[in-house]
Amino acid sequence: MPQTNMTHLECSLCSRIFQAGRAWNLCECGGPLLVRYDLARLRAEWSRESIASGPNSMWRYAPALPVRTPDSIVSLGEGMTPLLAARRTGARIGAGDLLIKDEGLNPTGSFKARGLSCAISMCVELGVKIVAIPSAGNAASALSAYAAAAGLEAHIYMPADVPQANFIECKAYGAHVTLVDGLISDCGRIVGERCKATAGQPDAWFDISTLKEPYRIEGKKTMGYEVAEQLSWKLPDAILYPAGGGVGMIGMWKAFGEMEALGWIGPERPKMIAVQSEGCQPIVRAFHEGTEASRFWDGASTVAAGLRVPKPLGDRLTLQAVRESGGCAIAVSDRDLLDAGVRLASEEGIFAAPEGAACVAAAERLIREGFLKAGDKIVLYNTGSGLKYLEAYSVRFPRTTAGEADKLGGLITPR
Ligand SMILES: *Cc1c(COP(=O)(O)O)cnc(C)c1O
Repeated sequence: MPQTNMTHLECSLCSRIFQAGRAWNLCECGGPLLVRYDLARLRAEWSRESIASGPNSMWRYAPALPVRTPDSIVSLGEGMTPLLAARRTGARIGAGDLLIKDEGLNPTGSFKARGLSCAISMCVELGVKIVAIPSAGNAASALSAYAAAAGLEAHIYMPADVPQANFIECKAYGAHVTLVDGLISDCGRIVGERCKATAGQPDAWFDISTLKEPYRIEGKKTMGYEVAEQLSWKLPDAILYPAGGGVGMIGMWKAFGEMEALGWIGPERPKMIAVQSEGCQPIVRAFHEGTEASRFWDGASTVAAGLRVPKPLGDRLTLQAVRESGGCAIAVSDRDLLDAGVRLASEEGIFAAPEGAACVAAAERLIREGFLKAGDKIVLYNTGSGLKYLEAYSVRFPRTTAGEADKLGGLITPR
């Protein structure tokens, strides 16, 4: 397998060029940086047929990832998640070819593992020692796990109402956890201030916030490479993705462009559909208003913690992917997404995160409204495991006390 073909980084807003081999955050203009590769050279050296003999993880795509020294790679087995046929759910909602990419099987139970495996590997390569992140949940768990695996010090700032699983995981992985009585945007501000205050010092904190660091998106883009590989290099008609920060969608869109430059796929693209929750839908609002960027969503509230991002930094790039692909943006209620999650579990044996369940509810509506057709090949991304959201699902399955269960006839006494 060839080495990485990273050449430089480029600002996604003003196109300014940044040198590879250094730790970067945002461009001075505020734009997120994207990693660029010498794809023409890679095309000559690397074939899609050789992928199958690579590692059984996202690192099978290492030539299109930024790490130079294989020894820097910090892997817990992320990626190569199953693409499962959802026949019963498909039949019920009128989708003849419905597939679920189950990212809940990743280390730490969500696709965030992909981004943080790549970002932490780059920290190791570039000599970063202390990392910090604001997170509404799964990114914190993944950062804590990969930082532990790499022996780095991790600082986590999370809203106080973060799912219990995330809090416990971070503590167990040995991260320094601070709960904040506020939103992820408040956590982000605090981390940013601390990183600025320590910049240039030996104990400098490096900001791993969504898109303020260019390598997480590179890990997440492997969701796009994998879906192509798993479908024998023919992309589906539509992809439904639960967009919070939107990074997974931006990453997949980037992956499709790279794969076309590598000669692995043609110019066809799936309709990229961004799914949000009614309680926090800045991308959906911007999509309908026809604007390039989103506006801050006031009073953000949803059980789908990964979607509670009131003003995503990657809003422009997400909206671009949605529009250029002929997709759309759609919001579903918390009630509908929890119902969809429970039905999916009972029909398919897949216990999805509320974010992933939102995609099932959205697909059902888009088929009913005619935006998606019965014959379309539709891939839903279940971005995490339902096991990480026991508080959210307990609304549907309240645990009764022994006394209450006895009254309802639901308790038996073993002889
Ligand atoms: C973070 C997260 C999302 C949103 O991811 P983006 O790629 O930033 O839009 C969706 N679902 C789950 C489970 C998450 O943890």
